[in-house]
Amino acid sequence: MKLIKKEWAKCILPYKNIVKNIYIGKCVYGRDIRGGAAHAHNHIDDLHFGCLCFPSKKRMHLKSTALHEVAHLMAPNSSKKVIDTHGKEWISKLEKIAGYDIMFYEILRIIKSYDTRQYYQFKYGIK
Ligand SMILES: [Zn+2]
Ligand SMILES: [Zn+2]
Repeated sequence: MKLIKKEWAKCILPYKNIVKNIYIGKCVYGRDIRGGAAHAHNHIDDLHFGCLCFPSKKRMHLKSTALHEVAHLMAPNSSKKVIDTHGKEWISKLEKIAGYDIMFYEILRIIKSYDTRQYYQFKYGIK
């Protein structure tokens, strides 16, 4: 479901020149993402560059998640690997728009995610 701008989370409105559209429950490409992860279409060769997709309205209204995704649009063309997607450029954008606390909280959340845990295990032997 595509939201009209009036339904956008307040914290996203300052970035309405960067965010093209917001979709809830289904990705702009039609995939059901209820119970899945929010994501940003941040590759400039993506037909839907600038779109944000959230599993629920509740997730969109969570400031840390909303700004996490906005920061992806500010750091476009990131790699698909979780660890690279959430690299230096994304971190600095998120800190700029959301502040240190949210930036730090989101990094911890990513480190706990499965893909990243695998990566750290592979690269550093951390369990
Ligand atoms: Zn999507
Ligand atoms: Zn992310």
